[in-house]
Amino acid sequence: MTDQNPRQEHLPDFLRLQEHDSQIIVRYRNSARMRHVMEGALKKGHLTLHYQPIVSSAGEVLGVEALIRIQDPEYGLLIPADFYAALDHHSFARTVGLFVMDTAFRQGESWHQQGLALRMSVNISTHHLLDNHFLEDIQAALARYPGLPPERVEIEITESAPLYDMVQAQERLRACNRIGVRVALDDFGTGNASLTYLQQLPAQSVKLDQSFVRDMVDDPKDLAIVTAVITASRMLGLDVIAEGVETTAHARLLTRIGCSHLQGYLFSRPVPAEDIPDWIARFRSIPADRENIPSVDILPTILEGHALRTEKFLMGMREHMAIPEHILEDDAADLCHLGRWLRGDGMIYYGQQPEFSGILARHERIHAIARTAKALLDAGNHAEVIHLGDALEMENRLMIGEINELVRERHTPSVDYSRRAGTSFK
Ligand code: C2E
Ligand code: MG
Ligand code: MG
Repeated sequence: MTDQNPRQEHLPDFLRLQEHDSQIIVRYRNSARMRHVMEGALKKGHLTLHYQPIVSSAGEVLGVEALIRIQDPEYGLLIPADFYAALDHHSFARTVGLFVMDTAFRQGESWHQQGLALRMSVNISTHHLLDNHFLEDIQAALARYPGLPPERVEIEITESAPLYDMVQAQERLRACNRIGVRVALDDFGTGNASLTYLQQLPAQSVKLDQSFVRDMVDDPKDLAIVTAVITASRMLGLDVIAEGVETTAHARLLTRIGCSHLQGYLFSRPVPAEDIPDWIARFRSIPADRENIPSVDILPTILEGHALRTEKFLMGMREHMAIPEHILEDDAADLCHLGRWLRGDGMIYYGQQPEFSGILARHERIHAIARTAKALLDAGNHAEVIHLGDALEMENRLMIGEINELVRERHTPSVDYSRRAGTSFK
């Protein structure tokens, strides 16, 4: 709603903007008006969801994001900009969240039953996430719609709203992961704690904010930020979804940098649920250079990290020093530097190659040898530990050779940093 909005005439006096209102009063009245609009919509059952498709850079439809609307009989369709102050307000956050989960999961189940196995992404306000009822709420909603597997549900936590209880948020999100539900960091880059969030919150997807995406073709700073976020996400094996993709130029560039998923008006605006099956039937992927591997090569850095860690592990075993994290734990093969690459980019770009599954198995074997070696060390069987250390090194050499072989068509251009002299970094 804008200041001149004719809807004001229908509002109670205290919510109407007056000419002499100060900025603070304007802000107060706007926010009170938004809560008033939401209150009315909840009472009259006017909330509804629209859905916007998310596609992979390889041109497949991944799923949809559920986006809230108010279908007002008098004013028509209202979008979140008309009532955003109510969405993250403590008195509405849970009620809205309950409506969204129920409606979206019911819809998701119905699509699954029709053979459309779409991922369903829902936006969750931080107030609801931190509410003591949140886990019960999401589990109850999932239980009502068993035809929608929890693995096909992603909750989006916006980065622009501060998480006032980080430890609680971490725990809630981990509990979501445990029941299979995925977590996405929404509007990534807009908050003042993006990297902290990335480091501390258990997320499977990063949603790159549209403000960076929009100008990346013209503004080198935005392109740099977009590339950094995509590269970091790839190294961590996370999905990265670019929001606000409006042109094929954006889609192509994002794909070249290695962005795994795209969302934006180029593909579709948010639409009512009944339009989604038709849209999917008509969808033709954009002609991107999709067989190409991303122009930013993360593998050399991953392999260097891996080599360093292997060395540190062997040294730790021989000299009784600390063992690096993500080597011995049960899930280490998924979470170590190389494991994230194998399950992320490796799988995406080389997963179809016949050699790939052998590399995955060898990687698992290396972790298994490490675990056995540590157990023997703890039992005081030093001779066998040395033998296993040699076996590990051998397996590791073979695996690195196989990975290099797999990606060998690629060649790194020669780099000369001295040519950069004179660039202005303002
Ligand atoms: P969001 O979660 O980042 O959602 C993406 C927003 O970008 C949507 O705006 C979508 O319509 C818009 N968008 C998508 N593609 C393009 C594009 O190519 N160009 C441009 N200019 N915009 C695009 P929408 O639906 O108005 O929602 C705005 C925000 O309201 C959402 O941002 C989200 O933070 C919040 N929101 C929406 N639905 C819910 C909900 O159910 N619960 C809560 N708590 N918040 C919600
Ligand atoms: Mg979102
Ligand atoms: Mg967003």
